[in-house]
Amino acid sequence: MTKAFDAVKAEEEHLLCRSYSRYPLAIARGKGARLWDVDGKEYVDLLAGIAVTALGHCNDEVCAALEAQVHRLWHVSNLFYQEPQLELARLLLSTSHHGKVFFCNSGAEANEASIKLARRYMRTIRQRDAFEIITLNGCFHGRTLATLAATGRESLSDGFTPLPEGFKQVPPLDMAALESALTPSVAAVLVEVVQGEGGIVPLPGDWLREVETLCRKRDVLFMCDEVQAGFCRTGTFWAFQNYGLTPDIISTAKALANGLPMGAMLATDEVAQGFVAGSHATTFGGGALVSAVATKIVEIMLRDHLADRAAEVGGRFKARLEAIQRRLPEKIREVRGMGLMLGVELAVPGRPVWTELLRRGYICNLSHDVTLRLLPPLTIEEIDLINFATSLEDILQAA
Ligand SMILES: *Cc1c(COP(=O)(O)O)cnc(C)c1O
Repeated sequence: MTKAFDAVKAEEEHLLCRSYSRYPLAIARGKGARLWDVDGKEYVDLLAGIAVTALGHCNDEVCAALEAQVHRLWHVSNLFYQEPQLELARLLLSTSHHGKVFFCNSGAEANEASIKLARRYMRTIRQRDAFEIITLNGCFHGRTLATLAATGRESLSDGFTPLPEGFKQVPPLDMAALESALTPSVAAVLVEVVQGEGGIVPLPGDWLREVETLCRKRDVLFMCDEVQAGFCRTGTFWAFQNYGLTPDIISTAKALANGLPMGAMLATDEVAQGFVAGSHATTFGGGALVSAVATKIVEIMLRDHLADRAAEVGGRFKARLEAIQRRLPEKIREVRGMGLMLGVELAVPGRPVWTELLRRGYICNLSHDVTLRLLPPLTIEEIDLINFATSLEDILQAA
């Protein structure tokens, strides 16, 4: 690569724990759906920091909200009442059927909160010793010990055992397996409406509705991990709203503060009774600075109808990718996803295609070495998506 990049890479080897395998790219600057590397090369960003910078990089209105709050108050801890937290909570709750919020700092923490609330609600409110959490093969719920147990992928927990007990996995779409897993010790079923890290795998709405119905029948909580699919990405504000689901608890994070670390768990008033003062806490969660920024972000998402935009622009983008698939069926196996959460599963080795896209100035993710995962900013110009599709077809024709 180049001199500036080589210097950054060499320095990192000395300084950071080696827990990441990085792209051959050091980013210096961003604006909207554009990124520039340390050598000044421009890229179109179809990854958005893994579904985080949904309003694009350095959005002017978000920057203004940040600057205003920077000089007012950053952090006082959750020992204090804080109005910015309440303003955000009011706005977030206006987007769903939930009644209460718990703020935290990441997706894994939002899932930890969901798991803890489900267990404690069952024990203290329902007086039932129900603690098990059922998840689906192919899911991803985070990297803390409990969320690793929920994720259930051995390659991720290698060397970290023992993991916390009380987690079981079943294959998606297998109703019989789920029915037999729902023993009296189960507290909740946790699903992603569209599996993100799993390679953009949307679960069918009919099946998800059956899962929720079964949970109701067996008196088990139904929880959705909206960390990646939430915040307008799939064409509705929350992904579960595509199918009229009513999860008791949802976990959210990624796009909530457009790159500042923030997570939130939303629960119904009924289930939220599982927490009392002292049950759960975090030093940073819902601080004034991140709350003020997140409030502006959710306001913009609602004002600019970004869920509708994701459905429309994403629908046209998906149709374009599907047309390429029909022209090149030996190169593309399948196009999956909803809104601006799309996956192109290749029938040819993915790495060279991904590398050539990068060389041509397009950043996306390559999932499991076969699926191009596309999570662009919700504000991306349609021409960027059209040009990406043209480049992809050109590369695949030659591949
Ligand atoms: C990214 C992700 C998480 C974990 O979020 P972190 O902020 O990295 O802890 C959990 N669930 C889903 C669905 C995710 O995509």
